[in-house]
Amino acid sequence: MYDFVVVGAGPAGSRFARRAAEAGREVLLLESGTVGEPLACSGHVSTDIWEYVDDEAVARLRQNRVYGARFHVDGPGSRSYPFYKREPVSNVIDRVGLDRTLADFAAEAGADLREGHTVVSVDERDDRVVVEASLGDGGETERFEARMVAGCDGPTSRVRRALDLPEPDELLHGVLGFDPESDASDFVDVHLTAPTFFAWRIPRGDAGVEYGLAAPPSEDVSGAFDRLTDAYGATTDRRCSGAIPVGPPARTTSDRGFLIGDAAAQTKPFTGGGILYGMRAADVAASVVDPEDPTTLDAYESGWRDELATEIRLGKAIRRCYSLPRPVQRVGLRALSGEIGVHMDEPSSFFSASNLRSLFSRGSPPEGKGRGD
Ligand SMILES: Cc1cc2nc3c(=O)[nH]c(=O)nc-3n(C[C@H](O)[C@H](O)[C@H](O)COP(=O)(O)OP(=O)(O)OC[C@H]3O[C@@H](n4cnc5c(N)ncnc54)[C@H](O)[C@@H]3O)c2cc1C
Repeated sequence: MYDFVVVGAGPAGSRFARRAAEAGREVLLLESGTVGEPLACSGHVSTDIWEYVDDEAVARLRQNRVYGARFHVDGPGSRSYPFYKREPVSNVIDRVGLDRTLADFAAEAGADLREGHTVVSVDERDDRVVVEASLGDGGETERFEARMVAGCDGPTSRVRRALDLPEPDELLHGVLGFDPESDASDFVDVHLTAPTFFAWRIPRGDAGVEYGLAAPPSEDVSGAFDRLTDAYGATTDRRCSGAIPVGPPARTTSDRGFLIGDAAAQTKPFTGGGILYGMRAADVAASVVDPEDPTTLDAYESGWRDELATEIRLGKAIRRCYSLPRPVQRVGLRALSGEIGVHMDEPSSFFSASNLRSLFSRGSPPEGKGRGD
């Protein structure tokens, strides 16, 4: 019997599998398709991402360095309000490559990684969990037993449903498209034009330019995406979409199961980004959950909230600003834009000494950085 069966080899599942295997646990990591595919993510992350991979991967996965964001209350060509640092704030990365790298680390640490295994049922018993996986269209299935199950199977988690755990507050619908023309410029553009969220343009170096938009699924997300690319005069050759969970459920653990990553809505409410929050929660789980002792799940439930709940709460407050009247947004953006000292994953860093110093000692932006239109 395995100690843990981990469902889903995204960043959260692979990170947890790696850390648990390194701690000497017997880990089975099941992935429904091929690791990393299909793509449904911008891969725009803070530079903290490099703490999770080795030096070789940094050069291979990095597509562009980003120094800041130009916010626009309206569409392309409208006045922009730049927020920037003098060093890179974030990186744009090859997301498919990241998933492959993290899954390989898990396998090298000893996790039993099986692709092409779609988990179709989870039966939680007194002393174990029994998980059944489908091996393809032929109807063939395989059963596995473990002391615990980790649901790392993304925003529409099947494990979450099987364990009867509550749903996230909200699922947004995100759409992406890519223009192949290369662009290694320093700024992403953010347009506060999508209902309750935003649209974006991300320069991805030789990988081209990404356009994207997210909004509640009740909105015409595809139509809004077309209007965005038309306004930029861009032609996108590939399009993909995915769900973005916002607002973690009140409970993410059951008797012998727990959720990590998007399955637990461990995302930034103001960007939808969840790669790093999910991996931080995975590290908490690997350090506190003992598969022989289900009572340790309580330590995970409180531990990941200690790590992320304040940032998520502040992130929700930032997101509320996306729905303010436009004149109010303009005043706020004008007041706050300029050089910043905030960490993009930590809204609480707005109150840090480095950000307050930046706010109150603003000079001209360096050449080529942060000049508004
Ligand atoms: C349009 C869009 C843009 C985004 N941009 C960013 C960004 O720029 N930066 C950022 O940090 N985040 C971004 N995100 C969010 C980010 O993609 C997620 O937060 C992140 O992927 C969560 O990782 P995860 O491991 O929890 O889940 P996932 O990455 O979704 O991984 C879940 C894995 O489980 C597998 N799986 C699902 N069901 C089963 C099953 N039944 N059996 C076996 N395997 C299963 C899936 O195939 C998948 O590999 C974006 C999301 C969207 C939709």
